[in-house]
Amino acid sequence: MSKVFDLFIIGGGINGAGIARDAAGRGLSVCLADKGEIGGATSSWSTKLIHGGLRYLENYEFKLVRESLKEREIVYKIAKSISKPVPFIIPYVDKIRPAWLIKIGLFLYDNLGGKSKIPKSKTIDLKKNFPNILKEEYKTGFRYFDIQIDDKKLTKLNIKDAKKNKAKILEYNKVKKAKIIDNQWIITLQDGKKIKSKILINASGPWINETLHKNIKITSKKKIRLVKGSHIITKKLYKADVAFTFQNTDKRIIFVIPYKRKFSLIGTTEIEVKSPENQGISKKEIGYLIKSVNNYLNNEISKKDIVDTYSGVRPLIEDFNTASKVTRDYVFDLKIINKLPLLNIYGGKLTTYRKLSEKVLFDLKKFLPKTKKGPWTDKKKLF
Ligand SMILES: Cc1cc2nc3c(=O)[nH]c(=O)nc-3n(C[C@H](O)[C@H](O)[C@H](O)COP(=O)(O)OP(=O)(O)OC[C@H]3O[C@@H](n4cnc5c(N)ncnc54)[C@H](O)[C@@H]3O)c2cc1C
Repeated sequence: MSKVFDLFIIGGGINGAGIARDAAGRGLSVCLADKGEIGGATSSWSTKLIHGGLRYLENYEFKLVRESLKEREIVYKIAKSISKPVPFIIPYVDKIRPAWLIKIGLFLYDNLGGKSKIPKSKTIDLKKNFPNILKEEYKTGFRYFDIQIDDKKLTKLNIKDAKKNKAKILEYNKVKKAKIIDNQWIITLQDGKKIKSKILINASGPWINETLHKNIKITSKKKIRLVKGSHIITKKLYKADVAFTFQNTDKRIIFVIPYKRKFSLIGTTEIEVKSPENQGISKKEIGYLIKSVNNYLNNEISKKDIVDTYSGVRPLIEDFNTASKVTRDYVFDLKIINKLPLLNIYGGKLTTYRKLSEKVLFDLKKFLPKTKKGPWTDKKKLF
């Protein structure tokens, strides 16, 4: 008789990969399938930051920022070979956000996550510290730090570790069908193989509801909003090894981040889309990003400076706010079907994948009574 896995995970983005690593390391038998390359979807199209999300404080998302800041510390510690702290400078613009508001925000950002090895924020003289980069009117700024990471590698390293602990990983093999037969999940893959499992986890990112409705044939009341975010890449725009956080008059922010030594990564936009499939950057988004940069940088850029672009689609939990205000937090939807669990994972951030994975195993504890090991991923390095 063929093996019955403890967990079957649909989707090898950062969330599926993190769950696979954590579960396999606890001695559980895990099988994960992705319809494409591991880490090849939203998890390689991000801004590549492990961050608390300074701007979410404005939406009073203290719980999310706190968890993210704590995770920033842990992920940096366990994934040092693919991450580094980067200073971010916010030029002060009194008409957009008053100095006192930014200072309160940065004070919270420095302290909400508890003890940190990452330097605290401070007010800086832009003319003295970064002469000639910014336009004349920007004289004062605020400096804080976040972590830049290789998002795709982070996903792949999680999978590598899961494999070391005997997880079965299948790439380019879409889950076509999942249904319960004889008290177990039977998952049918694109190549015709059938896999048996006690638990089914749907971590298919922006495809979550499509997978649920079309492949598992279960309806969910949880609504998601698909939001496309795009980036442009140019040759390095200035020599200093700092990133800038530019505030726009629509209250959104744009990052300009040093990227792969010779380039600058600029993003992101937020456009609601209907399909989870990646449609790439639009002319309007390119225009928006160029304009944002040119409001601040001395050396203005144009379309011909763009060397590459990429876009990603995020699945955000619908809370009926505007796109930039919709929460980046995650929500689990645990369904028990004929006594067998199906866990759907909605939303999330790259930053919180490890904690999310830990919580998944906590929530599934009663279905996995023989698991001997508890949480462990905060200590063991990824390499
Ligand atoms: C523009 C942008 C910028 C971002 N920047 C940041 C940032 O700087 N920091 C941060 O913390 N977060 C950031 N995020 C959020 C972060 O990228 C996402 O939360 C995270 O990558 C989602 O991971 P996931 O595993 O849920 O989804 P995905 O990475 O999309 O993985 C889902 C996987 O499921 C697979 N799949 C789908 N259907 C099936 C099926 N039927 N069978 C098999 N496989 C299937 C897909 O192929 C895919 O690989 C950003 C997001 C976007 C869009």
